[in-house]
Parts: sequence; C-alpha cells; structure tokens
Amino acid sequence: MIPQNAFSDASNAPEIQRVRHELHRRSLEVVKVERLTPHMIRVTLAGPDLAGFVSASPDDHIKIFIPGLDGAPVRRDYTPRKYDSEAGTLVLDFVDHKGGPAAAWARAAKVGDYLDIGGPKGSQVISGNIAHWLLIGDETALPAIGRRVEELSAPSHVTTLVAVSGQEDEQMFKTSARHTAYWVHRPLDKANDAQSIVSVLSDLDIPERTFIWVGAEARVAKTVRQYLLEKRGIAAQWVKASGYWVKGQADASVKNVGV
Ligand SMILES: Cc1cc2nc3c(=O)[nH]c(=O)nc-3n(C[C@H](O)[C@H](O)[C@H](O)COP(=O)(O)OP(=O)(O)OC[C@H]3O[C@@H](n4cnc5c(N)ncnc54)[C@H](O)[C@@H]3O)c2cc1C
Repeated sequence: MIPQNAFSDASNAPEIQRVRHELHRRSLEVVKVERLTPHMIRVTLAGPDLAGFVSASPDDHIKIFIPGLDGAPVRRDYTPRKYDSEAGTLVLDFVDHKGGPAAAWARAAKVGDYLDIGGPKGSQVISGNIAHWLLIGDETALPAIGRRVEELSAPSHVTTLVAVSGQEDEQMFKTSARHTAYWVHRPLDKANDAQSIVSVLSDLDIPERTFIWVGAEARVAKTVRQYLLEKRGIAAQWVKASGYWVKGQADASVKNVGV
C-alpha cells in the first residue's frame, strides 16, 4: 500500500464550488478565424448577444449549435478560451480532427458567419490551499489548460503535461505564474492511449498540495486518474479528471471519470 501524502489528504482538500449561471442562447458573429497550429483553429466571436456572458472557471464549457453531417441540428461542448468583456469578444479553439460536424464547422468558418451558443450553465470553481497545479491533457483540453495557466499569477506554480501530434502543435501561454511545460507527441489516431503521458508522469515529482486537473480522451483521463490514485497515492479529492471525448463515439464525454 502506498502511503498518502499527509499534506494532500482528503481532510485538507481544495473545495470545488458549483456556481450556477442563468442559461442564455446567443447568436454570435464570426469576426476572426486563425489557424493557431496545424490541428487548432481559433474562432473569435462577437455581437450584442454577448452582453452579460459569464465564465467563472477556466474549465467551463458552452454548447455550440451547428448543423450535423445530415443537416439536422446538433450540439457540442467547447471551452470559452477567452472572454473579453471590454472588447466584446469570445474566443473558441477547435481541434481540427477529421471526424465530426463541429470540427467541420470550424474548418469552413469565415468572417460574417454566425454561431449559436448556450451557457455556460454552471462553473466549478476550485479554491483552497493549493501550492502547485498540475494540468494534464490532450488537444481538446488545451483551451482550458491555456486559460488556467494564463489566469494564474505569481507566486503560483503550474506544471502542464499535454499530448499533441507534434512539436508544431505545441502552444505558448503568457503568465506571471511559474510555469513548467512538458509536451508529449503521438499521432491523433493514438489519442486514446495514455502511455506517453503516464511515462512522463512517472518521472515527475508531485509536490505536496498539488491539485491535478486532467482533461483528455475518456480512456486516457481514466487511466491517468487511476495511475495517480493507485501508484502515486494521491487522494481522490486532489484530482479532477474528465473525459472530454470518447474515441469512436460522436458527441460523447465523461464529465467525471471517477464515478
Ligand atoms: C467540458 C468540455 C470542453 C471541451 N472543450 C473543447 C474545446 O475547447 N475545443 C475542442 O476542440 N474540443 C473541446 N471538447 C471536446 C469536443 O466537445 C469533442 O471533441 C467533440 O466530440 C467534437 O465534436 P465533433 O462534432 O467535431 O465530433 P463528433 O461528431 O462528436 O465525433 C465524431 C468522431 O470524431 C471523434 N473525435 C471527437 N473529437 C475528437 C478529437 N479531438 N480528436 C480525434 N477524434 C475526435 C469521435 O470519437 C467520433 O468518432 C470539450 C469537451 C468537453 C466535455
């Protein structure tokens, strides 16, 4: 049995406060489209409907409403990567994978198009005596990870460990926090294999009072959480792990892989 770290046990765990927001549907205009990296498309949205938009946590999600592959409406989850209330803009980052209508919408998006969004319905705000953040994920979690890194400030410590297809898909984040970034490379068709992440993780020191956030393909998120709990003795209350998508299934996620 692995002893649990006395400073990262259940009794002094951070609190995850659930905040509800009034639900609004908004129709927003595309004002900018950029190819951020080979597998990431950044879309900036604006318009009067953005008034009153609230996103209290970096891992919030909104629903986007788009035509499905057969033309019937479908919805998908996306992270509000950056909301600028003064400029009146909302940035979303879309992974360019070959499979689904959301990725196809982003590939075709152009200035002047409209996108309907709903939410965020709620936020999970993490607070407490956190000395260090460890953020682990794949491309779909990069918006949440990037936003968290940018919203943290000195003297916070944050380590990120992200799996992408290659060096050209790595991203830089501006932050005054102390940030250490690890990247692992694997092809997108191996995005449900946790091996590359676990192998770097097994060499990483996890200091006391580290809050670990995981967002990745569901099998990877589950494997990483299991590794942290079973092999590293981390208390479950110090880990928040979500399956952001499920390989082989459309419109699928596992918001908490621990249950
Ligand atoms: C809370 C939350 C926040 C999220 N934030 C973002 C975000 O900001 N940006 C983002 O890009 N994604 C994000 N996602 C993931 C996104 O919702 C899914 O990837 C979604 O399935 C994409 O929809 P689609 O229509 O493109 O593909 P779908 O129609 O849902 O899926 C079609 C096929 O593509 C596969 N697939 C889906 N996503 C991927 C992928 N990333 N790589 C390879 N194959 C894939 C599916 O397994 C399926 O076989 C988030 C998910 C959650 C739960």
